[in-house]
Amino acid sequence: MDAVDKSPIIRLFHVHKRYGSKNALIDTTLDICKNEFLCISGPSGAGKTTILKLLYLGESVSEGQVLVDGMNLSRIPPKRIHLLRRKFGIIFQDYKLIPTKTVFENVALVLEAAGKKRVLIRKKVRSVLRTVGMEERHNSLPPSLSGGEQQRIAIARAVVGDPRIILADEPTGNLDDASADVIFNLLKRFHARGGTIIVATHDKDLIRKAGGRTVYLRQGRVEKITNA
Ligand code: ADP
Repeated sequence: MDAVDKSPIIRLFHVHKRYGSKNALIDTTLDICKNEFLCISGPSGAGKTTILKLLYLGESVSEGQVLVDGMNLSRIPPKRIHLLRRKFGIIFQDYKLIPTKTVFENVALVLEAAGKKRVLIRKKVRSVLRTVGMEERHNSLPPSLSGGEQQRIAIARAVVGDPRIILADEPTGNLDDASADVIFNLLKRFHARGGTIIVATHDKDLIRKAGGRTVYLRQGRVEKITNA
């Protein structure tokens, strides 16, 4: 019996996204399964980041429907958007860490915002920093770290709240091969624990190692979907 749950956790149904007169996504229909490691690739401007933004309501669709873990995004009232966002851990190419806060504080913020108790926050943040190999740097400020180290902190921040889905936008775009490898292995680890991963990337090496489906976008349309 196939023990893998293949049911979709995300569904895009005839989604169009326009920024003014610019068509960023055109009639996109896509299911993403629970525990999938999905790559979204294609040239710059193809619509990769736009798909990620639509999922966490960083942008809303112009037409069509998006469902995330049973929630229809066009029906979520503004005061419940934070419940949707808690389902996601988000990793950006440029890390987006707060430069004036320590590594520990950057990661702890997520749990503070979710109203967790201080003792639990300390335990959880220490544990996740250990996982990414950065426990000793808990007191450092992000600008004193290398790009690869900052991205490890960004991953720690993305996973600390136990999200169901990780969204990563060009997570290895600014990194050398060795650092990109570390980042891939951390994503793989989250995947092995049952998480769903969606990565927008040009990185052919990452796509090959992810070993799953890749959606290729071109000028806002799904051009092809490959299966490794
Ligand atoms: P990718 O991530 O593949 O590089 P994006 O999703 O960022 O592509 O962008 C798709 C298209 O939408 C591009 O032509 C881009 O210039 C345009 N676009 C993205 N965000 C905006 C915005 N906020 N306002 C206007 N145009 C935008």
